[in-house]
Amino acid sequence: MARYTDSVCRQCRREGCKLFLKGERCYGPKCAFTKRPTPPGMHGISRRRASQYGAQLREKQKARRAYGLQEKQFRSYFEKASRMQGVTGENLLILLERRLDNAVFRLGMGESRAHARQLVCHGHICVNGKKVDIPSYLLRQGDEITVRESSQGMEHLKALREEGNRSVPKWLSLDAANLKGSLLALPQRDDIDLTIEEHQIVELYSR
Ligand code: SF4
Repeated sequence: MARYTDSVCRQCRREGCKLFLKGERCYGPKCAFTKRPTPPGMHGISRRRASQYGAQLREKQKARRAYGLQEKQFRSYFEKASRMQGVTGENLLILLERRLDNAVFRLGMGESRAHARQLVCHGHICVNGKKVDIPSYLLRQGDEITVRESSQGMEHLKALREEGNRSVPKWLSLDAANLKGSLLALPQRDDIDLTIEEHQIVELYSR
């Protein structure tokens, strides 16, 4: 599948909710979804009610776009989740949440998941003291995420240091002064604040 190159804000308008893909801008009045919360396109406002398949597809697209994945990658997470014990939909979201780029974003070291992914790919992030440049790296309980010493001068990281410890999800801890985060426990479904009906994704892939 080709890489998405259109406006990212279009994706929020398409999914009918904020996906927080643009960092700072998402929290201010310039957010395109705040200004125009209708689906993109000239017939956006008059769009008819979605079919069951349409609703399932939208939930899958919402999750896939929020985590910035392509269809093939997303599908492979689903397959992995379905082989695990427990509820497949919850397993899927927990796996996505355990990605290194997501944790870097959740800790505030990246302004969005896309920015966090770039930081990881460019080798600015270490896990347990070793450089890891794979955004999909799956974190385990007890893992320590740090910014490489040579990368700590970046403006947004200086701002994070100055701001001090901000609130992070309860499965993570942040030591902003040292640009260090830890995975206290594996995330649970309740810790994930995205409004996604994961059972719809399971139903879609089980058709
Ligand atoms: Fe979505 Fe952020 Fe764009 Fe708002 S500014 S529409 S939340 S990507």
